[in-house]
Amino acid sequence: MTKKEPTPVDLQFFEKNHHDRTRRWLGTTNLETIQQSTVLMVGAGAVGNEVCKNLGLLGVGKIILVDPDKVAASNLNRCVFFRPGDHDVKYKVDAIAERLPELATDTKLEPHPLPIQEAPDSVWDVDLVLVGVDNHYARYLLNAKNLSLAPPLPVINGAMGKDFVSVEVLAPPHTACLVCSWSKDFVDHVVANEVRTRCDPFFVDTVPRFPMISFVTSVVGAVMSWEATKVLVGLTQWRKTGQWQEELEPALGRFIQYDLHHHKSLTGLIMANPRCAEIFCRDKRKHT
Ligand SMILES: [Zn+2]
Repeated sequence: MTKKEPTPVDLQFFEKNHHDRTRRWLGTTNLETIQQSTVLMVGAGAVGNEVCKNLGLLGVGKIILVDPDKVAASNLNRCVFFRPGDHDVKYKVDAIAERLPELATDTKLEPHPLPIQEAPDSVWDVDLVLVGVDNHYARYLLNAKNLSLAPPLPVINGAMGKDFVSVEVLAPPHTACLVCSWSKDFVDHVVANEVRTRCDPFFVDTVPRFPMISFVTSVVGAVMSWEATKVLVGLTQWRKTGQWQEELEPALGRFIQYDLHHHKSLTGLIMANPRCAEIFCRDKRKHT
């Protein structure tokens, strides 16, 4: 038996291309799909910072970023793209648009310093929506807008507490929508609460803020970005055949939770609600 000679490897070759390690991970075709993808990121706070960093480094072609707020000093403990001089001066979306190209040279970032309900319709011309907002009212509004599209877009929603994170991977009407688990009473409360915060600046200024630290946000950003990667590389095939790529199947219709305190993870199905408070959800589900 003749001994097989090892294949010579040019180690220099590996390091020449910015995306070489990503290509080895995803494959050439999937990397090209990622580079041609556009995502809408709603929220440019701690979660938006992490997701823009991850998807920018991955090589996503374009990120449309929507958030009406300016950088606050309290954001600085967990937001990689914000600087102390930004406080009360720079919009969050503009700070990220300015600094993302330093590390993600191939990703275009389109900033919109507006609430999602005031953003132009063009922001919805994307492959996927990522949600990193701190209020249910924005989730309620963007869910209704998404369900009015034909077809609605996949949505990855991130949320967290002091020491846990939760991510939902949805593609309504094939799965539950963002508000399927909300009761009618809760929806009424969400809408009424927004009215109160808009009319009473004192309430806005005194809303309690829960404790938060950068590595909790890193976990939620990582889970969202990983699920986004799987959705982006497989979306066209899934829409045609109902099948995802092998070993790259997103957790569609499921929640993923991680408890950092006890190092426990949990995942489960989010039940679609035929009596969902969102009329577009009820209507579209009838025709699926
Ligand atoms: Zn629903």
